[in-house]
This record gives sequence, structure tokens and C-alpha cells, in this order.
Amino acid sequence: MRIMAQMAMVMNLDKCIGCHTCSVTCKQAWTNRKGTEYVWFNNVETRPGQGYPRGYEDQEKWQGGWALSRNGRLKLKAGGKLKKLASIFSNPKLPGIEDYYEPWSYEYDNLLSAPEQKHIPTAPPKSLLTGERMDIKWSGNWDDDLGGTYAKADLDPMLKSIGDKVKLEFEETFMFYLPRICEHCLNPSCVASCPSGAIYKREEDGIVLVDQDSCRGWRMCISGCPYKKIYFNHRTGKAEKCTFCYPRIENGEPTVCAETCVGRLRYIGLVFYDADKVTEAASVPDEKDLFAAQKDLILDPHDPDVMDAAERAGIPHDWIMAAQRSPVYKLIKEYDLALPLHPEYRTMPMVWYIPPLSPVVDVVKDTGYDAENAVNLFAAIDELRIPIEYLANLFTAGDTDVVADVLRRMAAMRAFMRDINMGVEPDVRIPHAVG
Ligand code: SF4
Ligand code: SF4
Repeated sequence: MRIMAQMAMVMNLDKCIGCHTCSVTCKQAWTNRKGTEYVWFNNVETRPGQGYPRGYEDQEKWQGGWALSRNGRLKLKAGGKLKKLASIFSNPKLPGIEDYYEPWSYEYDNLLSAPEQKHIPTAPPKSLLTGERMDIKWSGNWDDDLGGTYAKADLDPMLKSIGDKVKLEFEETFMFYLPRICEHCLNPSCVASCPSGAIYKREEDGIVLVDQDSCRGWRMCISGCPYKKIYFNHRTGKAEKCTFCYPRIENGEPTVCAETCVGRLRYIGLVFYDADKVTEAASVPDEKDLFAAQKDLILDPHDPDVMDAAERAGIPHDWIMAAQRSPVYKLIKEYDLALPLHPEYRTMPMVWYIPPLSPVVDVVKDTGYDAENAVNLFAAIDELRIPIEYLANLFTAGDTDVVADVLRRMAAMRAFMRDINMGVEPDVRIPHAVG
């Protein structure tokens, strides 16, 4: 067993209100510089929707040059040395500025001095990059307006793949927010794809960083990252990415996004994993087995063998204690509530999500009652407002049973806590119903 420590995050999606406080505070801390105007290390995207950068989940389009080899490592797909070389030099698989959406600013002078008008101003904003008025057709979170209807089915591959379960009626439409940062993957394809060896995963805590002195601006990491969480600074000519706020972490402070999150939905913690098993886990043939393989990599920090191995590996004793207290470990392994984003990308992402629990559509339609009722939820877990298939496409490579289990557990917890908060004796059958 080669035990390694990893900083990881769990986000509880039910609590995200899409306020973007996390994005703005992250931007102020890390990308408030020339060359990074368009960059959001933390973004909050609308689901269903195209995400950020637009359409990043279309792996054929953006990552067509890469493939997972039989030993679980990422390699260039193109055959033959010449083709591989050509692929490195041309690297066509990059989103453009229109996919990140061009940064713009209000003209504050006009805002303050313009005379009162009858109509809302409709002049397009000016680009921060060119100073010209922009012809914008799409921007981040414009998907909010479409609410999960057929209008979006062509745009969101996760939605398209659930076919006739896409809702048409207003009462049946849905949306939720998905905050995203770099996944600080256990099998990071950005590291594998960098020809200069400039990207590395820190031994002590698994945080993935770009060595600015070694980066030669190949941008292969941008096409190599399936989550599109590496960005090119066109001023410095170097790649940049989320650092998991490592200077704060080293001082015992949370990341900026977690500390400022209005919904208090981000949990940060240390987990241990067996580094010798990562490649094997990333190579399991059936995509639906990847979630379980990834979860199995995370070790029980209370297990005496794991504690011994951690001490032999030089992990400080207080880190072992921290792993035992880790809310991330509890949410993933003890409570079985957290799921990884797109495990089928095989990079073993370390930002996990508790999927949103939505009410049963028929109950809402028939009674107008829009709250969660544990009994209804248990009985009709596949008739939720957010189709379970949609969540499964995001978090379990399509395994709806795993998502249903998580949602039932959430429903049980809510019903149990609601009874306690109302001063009612909790129905002890509820927790037993979901194990
Ligand atoms: Fe690298 Fe992308 Fe994984 Fe982050 S999400 S570690 S940038 S492969
Ligand atoms: Fe969601 Fe928290 Fe970010 Fe607001 S600050 S958008 S609640 S993750």
C-alpha cells in the first residue's frame, strides 16, 4: 500500500443559490490580473445548460486528441510519431474566447450620469479586451432562462441523452446550479498531457499546480483536461489553474470559495488513498463501475493498518487526526452521500457532489404541495422534478440506482431532522428504510 494524502471537497448542491460570491471572491484573489480577464477558476454553471466553457462536456469535440491507454494513462490518440508530433504543434482542440464568453464591463460613467429614460437601455456592453461594442449571442448562465425544456435538449449532452424524459410543461421544468473548480484529480490528465512536465501533483496533499517557470505555453493541458479547468494567460503565455488556495491551506485556512460561500455548502477535508491502485481503478472497463472503483480508493483513516501505513509514509500524526475528522471522508464513505462529477472521464476527480433533491412532480401537479415528503419520495424516486437519469449522467456514468440510493438517504435525513426540529418524535422507520 502506497498511502497518499489528498485535499478534497464536497459540495451540497441543494444549498447552492447561484449567487456567484465564490466566483467573485476567487477572481479577486487569483485572477484579477491582465491576461486572466476571461478566467474563472471557480465558476457556477446552470444545469441543464452548456456549462463553462461552453459545451466542455462534448469530449469528442474538445478532447478528441486524447485517449486512455490500456494501463490507465492518458496518451495522444493519433497514431504514429509524425501524427503525434503534428497533433502537438497544431493542438486544435481549444475553446475560443466566445466559449468562455468575452469579459465586459458596465460603462459606469453613463450609469451614473445618464438622464432618466422611459425604457431600459439596450446598448450591448463593451468588451474589456477590445473596447468595442460586442455582438453577444450567449454568455454564462443565460441557460437560466430555458429551464430544462426541449429548447435546451440540443445544447446539453446530458439532457439530450435522457430523450423523452425531457420535460415540456412548466411545472415539470427544472434547473439547479453546479459550482466547479479544478478537480485536483488522482489521475490528472493535465499532468499527463504537458510536454514540458510543468504540471505536478503535490506529494503532501495532492493539489495540482502549474510551475510557471517550466510552462512553455503548449496548451496541451487545456485540451487534455476533460473538465476544461486549465486556462491560458495570453499576456504571460503560461497556463494557470485553481490552486486549491494552497497558501491558505498551508496556514490552516479554507479555500476562498469555501470561506465565502453564502450557502455554506462546501466541505473541505483530507482523505487518504492507495496510490498504487489509482491506475487500476482508472482502467476498469465498464464506465458504470468507475464510481465504485474511485470510492474504493479512499481508505478508512480509523483502520489501524491505514494509520500505520500513513505513519510509515511520513504523514504527520495531526494529519491522520485531521483525516479522521474529515467531513469529506464522512460524506463520501460513511454517509454514502457524495458522488464525483463525470467519473467516466477516468481522471479520478476529487471534488464530489451531493446531488440536489427535488420534489415528486405528480405530487406538485395534483396538490400544489411543493415540499419534500419522505413517503412520496421513497415511493416515487424516479418521478422527481429533476430526472434521476440527468443526475446519473452527471455523477455516476448513468447508474441511476446509486443516485436513487443517495436521494432516498437525503429524504430520510430531512424527514428525520424535520421531525426533531418540529418537536415531534422522529419516525424511526425512516432511517432504517434506506439503510
Ligand atoms: Fe488537471 Fe483538469 Fe483534473 Fe484539474 S480537473 S487536475 S486541471 S485534469
Ligand atoms: Fe453557490 Fe456558495 Fe457559490 Fe453562492 S457562494 S454560488 S451558494 S457555491
